Amino acid sequence: MTTNADLSMRARAALPGGVSHELRFRAPHPIFVERALGAEKWDVEGRRYIDFKMGSASQMLGHSHPDVVEALQRAISTAIFSADCHLGEVEWADWVNRLMPCAERTRFCASGSEATMLAIRLGRAFSGKPGVLRIDGHYHGWHDHALKGAKPGSDRPTSLGVPQAISDLITVCAANPQAIESALQDTQIGTVIIEASGANYGSVPLATDRLQALHDVARKAGVVLIFDEIITGFRWSPGGRQARDGIVPDLTTLAKIATGGLPGGAVCGKAEIMELMNNAESREGLSPPVSHKGTFNASPLIAAGANAAMEHLSTGAPQATADAMAARLREGITGLMARHGIAGTVYGESSTCHMYFGAEALDDLSPAQIRSVQPALVNGLRGGLLKRGVDLMSHTSCVTSAAHDAALIDEALEAFDSTFAALIKDGVIAA
Ligand code: PLP
Repeated sequence: MTTNADLSMRARAALPGGVSHELRFRAPHPIFVERALGAEKWDVEGRRYIDFKMGSASQMLGHSHPDVVEALQRAISTAIFSADCHLGEVEWADWVNRLMPCAERTRFCASGSEATMLAIRLGRAFSGKPGVLRIDGHYHGWHDHALKGAKPGSDRPTSLGVPQAISDLITVCAANPQAIESALQDTQIGTVIIEASGANYGSVPLATDRLQALHDVARKAGVVLIFDEIITGFRWSPGGRQARDGIVPDLTTLAKIATGGLPGGAVCGKAEIMELMNNAESREGLSPPVSHKGTFNASPLIAAGANAAMEHLSTGAPQATADAMAARLREGITGLMARHGIAGTVYGESSTCHMYFGAEALDDLSPAQIRSVQPALVNGLRGGLLKRGVDLMSHTSCVTSAAHDAALIDEALEAFDSTFAALIKDGVIAA
């Protein structure tokens, strides 16, 4: 039998660190997953896991939803890819434009990072200003324009290789209206980007009145306001956070659920900004004024999967189930922490569940403090749960899907129970 350890040895000789995404790295080795269905998955050793990662929050309907699978099978039997215009992309854009309040036009791309890269380019082109304001700790992907400020409490880009000249164009500030108002005194800033959930899918919460205040300050300053709804889009509600809370930006970035859990991304927003990508438009001798290409943009295969997913996502039913299951999980973990005498807070909006370990109230902590749970605890928790058949999304956080049910949540809670007991016994968590 192939083991996870064997495969990891082989992977390390073929892939840097043995992985294709740095968050998949795990000591001593990751699990190698062979099959996923509903809210469960199985590794190459045949071990089963209750999944709270769900394709990095992309599999809102559950793994391998039959309607998505059928749509993909139908599409792939017609053609793999011809790089032409097709009906599916129009239907897909119609779904996005109907569901997302800011969306008058949609342009598809190949990933979430591409979506934020494109939205920032559109913001700069429309405002005519190179400066971008972003919020401490908010995540917008891995490209050069998104890395300064990605680690809360630090102005240093989270990677080598980012030119200082690019970082100089990015201003990072706290998620409060006064800080934004004062940062926007810099007349070179024409674009503001905000992760609609708060940093890292809400692990640093962003209350609705606060988001509204940030929106109002940006509006008053007349800058282009981008909501990154790559997590919240089609999860917080069928129309994302902006529909749920009635706070509408100029542009929105989408991926993950928007693409039916398949690779891709999108930017949607106001026609007057989006039409800068129209070839019939010309500005300053450039036509289209904003260039955007990409071989696999809106591939018919992805469009077919996404359109099949939209039939379900648009009803709100998958979100209601996922939310109820996350609430059950949060409540269950809260009860277990109390029973074990662990100081902490279990929280999260919509279908997320975050854990903070410590006696402090979240409101009294900075984003950097909220994210500073000891690595030994994070690794102990994640490793202990994985050993007991439960996989978290990242850090100390989970997402649920429409495929989670009460029995799976209760089974997962048993794994939390014994993991907490083991971590207390080993002195990793104080009780
Ligand atoms: N923005 C947010 C809020 C995200 O959560 C992510 C991915 O997790 C991204 C951007 C980047 O998307 P991708 O990983 O598809 O490049």
